[in-house]
This record gives sequence, structure tokens and C-alpha cells, in this order.
Amino acid sequence: PFRRSTRIDAVELSEILKISELAEALKRVGRDIITLGTGEPDFPTPPHVIEAAHQAARRGETVYTLTAGTIELREAIADGCQRENGYRPEIGEIIVSTGAKQVLYNAFAATLDPGDEVLIVAPYWTSYPDIVTVCGGKPVVLPTTAETGFRITPDQLRAAIRPKTRWLLLNSPSNPSGSVYSETDFAALADVLRVAPQVGIMVDEIYQHISYVPFRSFRAVAPDLADHTLIVNGVSKSYAMTGWRIGWGIGPKRLASAMLAVQSQITSGASSVSQAAAAAALNGDQQMLAERADDFRERRDMLAAALNATGVLDCPSADGAFYLFPGCAAAFGRTTAQGRKIDNDADFCEVLLEEQGVALVPGRAFGTPGHVRLSYAYSRASLHEAATRIARFCASMT
Ligand code: PLP
Repeated sequence: PFRRSTRIDAVELSEILKISELAEALKRVGRDIITLGTGEPDFPTPPHVIEAAHQAARRGETVYTLTAGTIELREAIADGCQRENGYRPEIGEIIVSTGAKQVLYNAFAATLDPGDEVLIVAPYWTSYPDIVTVCGGKPVVLPTTAETGFRITPDQLRAAIRPKTRWLLLNSPSNPSGSVYSETDFAALADVLRVAPQVGIMVDEIYQHISYVPFRSFRAVAPDLADHTLIVNGVSKSYAMTGWRIGWGIGPKRLASAMLAVQSQITSGASSVSQAAAAAALNGDQQMLAERADDFRERRDMLAAALNATGVLDCPSADGAFYLFPGCAAAFGRTTAQGRKIDNDADFCEVLLEEQGVALVPGRAFGTPGHVRLSYAYSRASLHEAATRIARFCASMT
């Protein structure tokens, strides 16, 4: 019994997990380890949100909700969309799930047949290809470089679309590169997509509120493609609510009902208490979002400057999210003071962790070797100390 299915066998153990396990093992033997690997805000969930969850539980909102989410939360999502993105989805176009991650799963499970292809832009969030694989689809990776700001070009998209292409998956602002698609970028991609009506467009906007340049939603830029578009969003990153597990999709009713069919058989819907909390987050004070984004921006600037000063890491700035994605190729072929040779991004991360106790994630985990990812959602003191150790590590190489 318990032989892995072919689909699950193809899912790789995450590089992030491997580096976390090594970091944990070093911590257990008493080493002082700084981890810049995790993708969650270091702010607390706002107190009024916690209070709303408490009140909901006391009112008896402790039973199953509508599978697609409470009307209260879906109204709050529609209001938020109107306020921030300039369009108002209908309630029937919104489906609330257990985190943005489940929205992705629902959509792919609902629409992919074996061999159907999904275009994924690298560097990508590690889970994208794995979710596609779990759902029986075939991830097709479109590589990008720092030269195009880690964004795909219309020509690249045009050349990649094939009869089997069912989805293009975009992430703006991006984890891990921090790139943000402008209105002009999206308009140019929309022109290509208009003549490829078999391709759905999924845009993961989970970092919408952590953008240091004007954020534009794809659906607002290309409203005529609304019937082909699924927007993915949630409260995890913006409102510091990763553990509450609330995300949502906004898409045409035909797609929403297929996603609902998946969700109804898997989870029956998201947690009732968490939904009340998410509604309070969306309906409450939004000033906090800008303040937190400003705080992240200061940390980004401090860390990027320190990394570039190493002379080894080549760190482009990032327009959103809370990650930096510097190139580390200048270290390849070099040897550290302790005699370890660095040949690739995985070596860089492993040796940095062992010699200096700083945990980063290798770019290969995001489909882009030759880079490393750092999260700056950590205290300034931790970032300073990490930057000092990384500088020492780079300076030790000959
Ligand atoms: N999308 C991206 C790009 C992410 O980085 C993450 C979390 O790291 C998620 C989605 C998952 O969001 P959620 O916690 O709402 O499932």
C-alpha cells in the first residue's frame, strides 16, 4: 500500500524545505542562524480583525458557510475591488477559498485535462508548477532575466502559445523577483491574448498592497477579457493573516461554478471565523497598508544597498512584494576562506548557511538558477546582521 501516485511522485521536495531543514539542524546544535527564507509579513494581524473573529464565534458563526464564502465577505471583496482596482465584480464571480493557494488548486483541478499546458513565468513562486502537476497539467516555463525586469514580453508570449495552452499564469507583484507589470505591459500582453481565446489568464495579485510603484489589476486594464480572466488575491500578505487561510478568486461564473464543484468536495469552504476576520480587514482602516508598505520599502533599500556593496551579489531593485532576487554568478568558481568552492546558487546558499549561519533560498527553487532569494520581512536588526555576515562571506572568497 501507499505507493505514491504518478502525479504526486512528480512533485519535488521543495528546495525551501531542504534549506529550512539544514537551518533547523544547525540551530539544534546551538548555532546562531538567521533565516531570510520565509514569505510572511513580520507584522501582527490588526487587533480589530482579531476582535471581529472573536465576535463572530460568540455570535454563533461557527457552522458551515455558503461554499463560495459568506455574502458579507464577498461584498467586502467586491467593495475593495471597486475602491482599489476600479471595477466591481458580481458576487457570483467571487469564490472564497482556504488561502490563495487553494484558489490556484481549484482552478487547475477544475479545468486541466492530462497534457494541457500552463505557461508559467520564471522566476516563479515554487508552488505554481507543482500545483499544475498535481492537477495533471504540464507546466511550461517561460524564462525571464533581469534585463526585462523579470517580465515576459509580448513576443515571448506569442511564441509560447500552442493549441494545448490552457492558461497563462502571471504574478504581479512577483514572488520572488518583486517585478510589477505596468498598465502598458499588461495592455501589450492583452493584445496577444485577445487572438488566443483558448488561453485563460490567471493573475495572482496576492502582493497587491505591497507595491512601490502604481499597482494595476489585469482585469482593470483588459475588461474585455474578463470572461477569460481569473484574478487571485487574499488577505495573507497584505493584512498579515497567513494563518487565517483566506484567499479568493474572481472570474467568470462558468469557471467559478467549476471551481465551486472542486471546493465543495474538498473543503466545503473556508473557515467561518476566518471569513468574518477577513471581512473586517477589508472593511476596516486601510491606512495601515500604506504605512506597512513604506516600512517594507525602507528595509528593501537598506538591504539592496548592502548586497550590492558586496561586489559579488548583483541586486536589482524590486518594485513590490518583500523579496530581493540578486544574481550570485560572480561567486561561481571561487573558494571561501574555509576552502569551500562555490559552483552554483545551491552551493552559495548551503555554504553561506554552514559558514555564516544565514539561510537564503537558491534561485533554482524558482526556476531561475544563478540567483538567490532573500525575504526582507524581518526586523532591521536581523537584516543588518544578515547583511554583515553575507558581506563577510563574499569578502572571504578568492
Ligand atoms: N501566491 C504567491 C505568489 C505567494 O507568494 C503565496 C505565499 O507565499 C501565495 C500565493 C499563497 O497565499 P495564501 O497564503 O493565501 O495561500
